[in-house]
Amino acid sequence: MPILRQIAQMGHPVLRGMAGTISNPADPAVQTLIDDMLATVADANGIGIAAPQLFEPLSLIIVASRPNPRYPHAPEMLPTAMINPEILWVSDEKEKGWEGCLSIPGLRGLVPRHTRIGVRYLTRCGELREEEYRDFLARVFQHEFDHVSGMLFIDRVESTLELMTEKEYVRRQ
Ligand code: ZN
Repeated sequence: MPILRQIAQMGHPVLRGMAGTISNPADPAVQTLIDDMLATVADANGIGIAAPQLFEPLSLIIVASRPNPRYPHAPEMLPTAMINPEILWVSDEKEKGWEGCLSIPGLRGLVPRHTRIGVRYLTRCGELREEEYRDFLARVFQHEFDHVSGMLFIDRVESTLELMTEKEYVRRQ
C-alpha cells in the first residue's frame, strides 16, 4: 500500500539541492517512491510533485494534471512518473501564469514559462519517451523540473507585486 508522505516545506535544504540521476528505474525503492508520490500528490490536490519534495533528492517528477479545487481549470491527463527528465528544446515565446507549490502553501506567484517544450524522460518501466507539451502542461513540467535542480517558483517571479495569497487568488477566480 502506498504511504502518504510528508511534504518538505520551503526553507528545508532538500528543496535547494541538485537531485541525483536514477540509474535503475526498476529498483523497488524507486517503484515504491513513485507509488507514494502518486498517492501524496492526489491527496494534496496537487497537479505535480517532485521527489525532493518528499525528502528524496532524486531526479524524478510526477505530472498529474486534472481539475481539482486548487486548479479548477487544469486539463485532464493520466498521472505520469518521469524519471531523469530533460528539456530538449523550448519555444522563444513565454507566458506568465499563476502557480502554487505544495512546498509553499498559501502563496501564488505569476511565473513566466515557455509555452512549448520538448522533453525526454524514462517511464517507470524504463522506456525512453520524448514528448511535446504546450501551455498548462508545459508549465507544470517546467515547475516540477525546476524542483530537481533546487529551484522554486518564487525564484522566477519577476516582482513581489506578482505574489498573492492563496485566499486572495481563490477570491478572484
Ligand atoms: Zn512545486
